[in-house]
Amino acid sequence: MFSYRHAFHAGNHADVLKHTVLIATLDHLLEKEAALTVIDTHAGAGLYRLDGDYAGTSGEAAEGILRLLSDKKAVAPTSPPAPAAKSATKKLAPEAEASLADAIARYLSVIHDFNPKGGARVYPGSPFIVQHLLRDHDKLKLFELHPTDARTLDANIAQLEAGRQIAVLREDGFGSATKFLPPPSRRALVLMDPSYEIKSDYGRVLDFAADALKRFATGTYAIWYPIIPRPEAHDLPRRLKTLATKAGKSWLHATLTVKSSKLITTTTGETQRPGLPASGMFLINPPYTLKPLLAAALPQLVERLAQDKHAAFSLDSGG
Ligand code: SAM
Repeated sequence: MFSYRHAFHAGNHADVLKHTVLIATLDHLLEKEAALTVIDTHAGAGLYRLDGDYAGTSGEAAEGILRLLSDKKAVAPTSPPAPAAKSATKKLAPEAEASLADAIARYLSVIHDFNPKGGARVYPGSPFIVQHLLRDHDKLKLFELHPTDARTLDANIAQLEAGRQIAVLREDGFGSATKFLPPPSRRALVLMDPSYEIKSDYGRVLDFAADALKRFATGTYAIWYPIIPRPEAHDLPRRLKTLATKAGKSWLHATLTVKSSKLITTTTGETQRPGLPASGMFLINPPYTLKPLLAAALPQLVERLAQDKHAAFSLDSGG
């Protein structure tokens, strides 16, 4: 356990999908004035340097955010952004091509806010993306168990001087995040983004979602998962769909595949796994605005992030 460090993966195609969905969801939830509580059950370190040792070694961002940014069709704005203003106002990248899907333009504009000189030297993880969008009266609860990442998260969050708006908890997100449900304002978004290092994570996601729905049936739950050749990974969205349907809740399921999951044979004749080929986001009680936004964004993400002819997306909803 605890060998996973998100710094190696920050800004990869899975983060692009996850954070595009997260921002589009938050934008909608923040349209209402009433306070929102966001619970990030697996927060990571919060902020990453894409030119640092970790990300440089893995190179995963090169096939994710950096590829989107280097695509001429997806230019991030070069003019200085508004100072990292705390605002729920939807801001699109001003110089992005007109045909760029709104959800992608919006994601790039948030990344740009952290990189006013352009590019993506700094990549915001979910805690910083959420904090950037929240208003002063909203709350953010962050769970992180890895000792090093929890320390880094603490230090990164301390710099924001956000006071009581943000709580960092070095606790098991699966075990104790439901204690914040329902929040006083009865409006919450829960992001579950485990590392799935151990296969029991899949079952724990499901148990958490079932418990959370019992405590707070109207919350919005967003779950990321890897699409890998493993029965638990294959079963998770199917089981979440059953859970949501039985609870009478709406759901949305989006996937992004960038390459084949087949084993690769190297020039020396060795076989290797190809690295993460695909991932999905499953939402319970998604905003009604999310599906049309993703219907426009996912084909463009496929076009821009495809690594081979197996690149594809799916988008399904129910309830
Ligand atoms: N949500 C982050 C983002 O989008 O920037 C990335 C999170 S990363 C995929 C998963 C994190 O969960 C890792 O930092 C890992 O140390 C942490 N983790 C693993 N098991 C945990 C648990 N039971 N409770 C809380 N954090 C955990």
